[in-house]
Amino acid sequence: MAQVVLDRVEKIYKGNIRAVKGISLHIDDGQFVVLVGPSGCGKSTTLRMIAGLEEISSGTISIGDRVVNTVAPKDRDIAMVFQNYALYPHMTVKENMAFGLKLRKTPKAEIEKRVRDASAILGLDDYLERKPKALSGGQRQRVAVGRAIVREPACFLFDEPLSNLDAKLRVSMRSELKALHQRLKTTTVYVTHDQEEAMTLGDVVVVMANGDIQQAGSPDEVFRTPVNRFVAGFVGTPPMNFLDGVLRAEGDRMVWLETGKSPVEIVLPDHLTAHARPLAGSTCVLGIRPGAISVQPDAPHDRSFLVQVVVVEPLGEQTDLRLTTPSGEHLTARVPSVHGHMPKVGQTIRVAIDPARVHAFEPGPFGRALDAPPAPAASEAATEAA
Ligand code: ADP
Repeated sequence: MAQVVLDRVEKIYKGNIRAVKGISLHIDDGQFVVLVGPSGCGKSTTLRMIAGLEEISSGTISIGDRVVNTVAPKDRDIAMVFQNYALYPHMTVKENMAFGLKLRKTPKAEIEKRVRDASAILGLDDYLERKPKALSGGQRQRVAVGRAIVREPACFLFDEPLSNLDAKLRVSMRSELKALHQRLKTTTVYVTHDQEEAMTLGDVVVVMANGDIQQAGSPDEVFRTPVNRFVAGFVGTPPMNFLDGVLRAEGDRMVWLETGKSPVEIVLPDHLTAHARPLAGSTCVLGIRPGAISVQPDAPHDRSFLVQVVVVEPLGEQTDLRLTTPSGEHLTARVPSVHGHMPKVGQTIRVAIDPARVHAFEPGPFGRALDAPPAPAASEAATEAA
C-alpha cells in the first residue's frame, strides 16, 4: 500500500487545451479518494496521469516514496479497473484473473492462491470456468475487480467502473466496492461523474470543475461547508436552491433581500453576519438546501416567508415541494410526508429556513461562500502536500 501525492500537476493537450490546471492532492495510505465532477472537468485525465497512461505536462506524481513521472505504467504498482471492464472474451473468468500475473511470471502456485482468494472475496467461485459472455454485467464487473485484486497493487485506480450497470446493480456494486475497500484497505483513486456515488464511497471527495480542484474534503465537509457555489450546487440531491439578492445592514443585523418585485427578506444567521457586514450593499446569492426548508404556518416572519406550491412530488417517506416566491423565483423543499397534512398545488404556505443551514455566496457560478476560509495559494497547497 502507498500514499499518492500530486504536486502542481498540469496536463496540456495538443492545441493548448489545459485539461488539468496544476492540481495538488495528498492521498494518504489506505484512503479511498473519489474524483468527481461534470463531464470534461479533467478527472479521467488526472487518473490516467496517475496510471501513467497519459504524460504529465508539468508537476510531479509520487506513489509511495517514488516520483513516477517517467515510470512505465506496468512498473507503477497500480491496478486499474475500467468502465468497459476490458475482459478477454476467449478466456475463462479464472484465466482472465490470472492473465496479468502470468505475464509477470508469477509462480503458478502463487497465481492459483491469489485467484482463489479473490474469487472467494468476490463470490465468483461458481463462475471460474465461464467465459465473460456467459456472465451478467455485475459479474463481469466483479471479474474486472478480481483481476485488479490478484495483482496486490499499492493502489487501485477506478475509472467510472459502475456506469455500464443498471441503477439497481450500481447501488449494490457500490456497497460491494466499499466493503471490499474496508477489507483490503488498499489506497484507491476512483473517478465518477455521479455525486451520490462519490459521497457514499469516498473517505475524501475531490470536487473538480474546469480542470481544477474546487474542494477536497470528507463527504460531510463538502456537503455542509461547500467553499463555493459550484460545490454547493453539485453535491446533494435535490440540489441546493440559489436566490439572487442584496445585503443590507440593519443595526447589529445583516439582512438579505431577494431581487424582485415582492422580495423575500431573511435576517442572516449569526455564522454569516460578520462575513456579510463588509459586503453591505453588494449582491449576494443565498443558498438553501431543500431539506433546510420546512412548512411552518406560525414561524416568526423574520425567518420565514410565503410561497406558492407549484408541484407536489411524493417520494414515500419524504415529499418534494416545488415552490415559487412572490417574485417568481423557484425553490424546492424536501419535507417529511405526513399523511393528510400535505400542502396542495396552488396553495400559499409559510416556509421557514433552518438558520444554521443558510449559505451565502458571492455572485457568479463559482462565487465563494462568504464564510469559506481563504483559499491557500497554489504553492502553500503543494507545501502542505509534501
Ligand atoms: P472528464 O474525465 O472529467 O470527463 P477528461 O479528463 O476526459 O474529463 O477531459 C478533460 C478535458 O480535456 C476535456 O476538455 C477534454 O475534451 C480534453 N481532452 C481529453 N482527452 C484529450 C485528448 N486526448 N486530446 C485533447 N483534449 C483532450
